[in-house]
Amino acid sequence: MGAADIQLTRHGHLMASIPATTHKPAGPTVAFLAHVDTAPDCSGKGVKPVVHRHYDGRILKFPDNPRLALEPATSPELLTAKGKDIVTAGGTTLLGADDKAGMAIVMTLAERLLRDRNLKHGLIRVCFTPDEEIGRGVDKLDLAMLGAQAGYTLDGGALGEISWETFSADAAEVTIQGISTHPAEAKAKGMVNAAFLAGKLLAALPREKCAPESTENRQGFIHPMRVDARVEKAVLKFILRDFELAGLAEKRRILKGLCQGLQAAEPRAVIQCRVRKQYRNMAYWLREDMRPVLLARKAFASIGLTPYDLPTRGGTDGSRLTERGLPTPNLFCGGHNAHGLLEWVAVQDMELAVTACAKLAELWTHERYSRPRTKSAVKG
Ligand SMILES: [Zn+2]
Repeated sequence: MGAADIQLTRHGHLMASIPATTHKPAGPTVAFLAHVDTAPDCSGKGVKPVVHRHYDGRILKFPDNPRLALEPATSPELLTAKGKDIVTAGGTTLLGADDKAGMAIVMTLAERLLRDRNLKHGLIRVCFTPDEEIGRGVDKLDLAMLGAQAGYTLDGGALGEISWETFSADAAEVTIQGISTHPAEAKAKGMVNAAFLAGKLLAALPREKCAPESTENRQGFIHPMRVDARVEKAVLKFILRDFELAGLAEKRRILKGLCQGLQAAEPRAVIQCRVRKQYRNMAYWLREDMRPVLLARKAFASIGLTPYDLPTRGGTDGSRLTERGLPTPNLFCGGHNAHGLLEWVAVQDMELAVTACAKLAELWTHERYSRPRTKSAVKG
């Protein structure tokens, strides 16, 4: 296509430049990012995309899975796509629109900006990353090499969506060391069953108000992801999530408190709870300089879309990037039902994302680059 500075790093990050068409020395460089991996929850191998032209509200069937149906009754967002062309998979795999839709949008944007030199923009960087779905996509991304002052991930959902708030996230691992004996003489030899203690810990969690399945919107949770338990030892893996750092700290306190209670009730066991930081709500940094969000809203509105904020009950690559110094909200790609067989995307919505990003690139030419803020804005 004629892009410049094409680099593939040893960590799998592919970057390229689209040279500026304006020549303002202080103009900011903007990056558009998408991730190449698809969700591990469901197979993304051998995808057979099917294009359903001119959607009219009907029930969509899948060629390779007659029992599967995509319909407005269970996917009401379909009604926003009437008259559009919908892409689904064949019925046995993901479509992988999360995030191939983002890849396609960024590639089409690059093509358009490179072809039409009348479109005004500063230096644009495009970047494709691996491993987003396992939360490590940008850990090793070299921000100096990327060289942008603002970024956007194209990894969002419905038309007009802007995500600039995400969860703050910790992971916790609880290990319970028990005492194993032959069950025949367990009483006499003092068996301490770590598997039983793991069950007690799970039962003590405030599940009715603090689990993923009992919370929504801005509520956080404590989520046991995996339990590996025998008599001698149990290991429990948790994720802790909250939009606010105070709420996240509260969840750490709850889990640690339950472990201490369990320890006090069974002094012969050895119970340890280790918490490690995962990512932080990007809003903590974006609130200091909302331009990346305000310009995205302005770009959307200027092409007739209604921008809306969607706080993400999860993290995006932008959560880590923003914390590391590159403010990076997440923009819509038009995809729905991510991570499952019913995944779909409307072609025309992807097209609108391309147009919105081109407009966004233009709006940034009116801005001046301000020095990046320090990384220590948030503690905890
Ligand atoms: Zn994604």
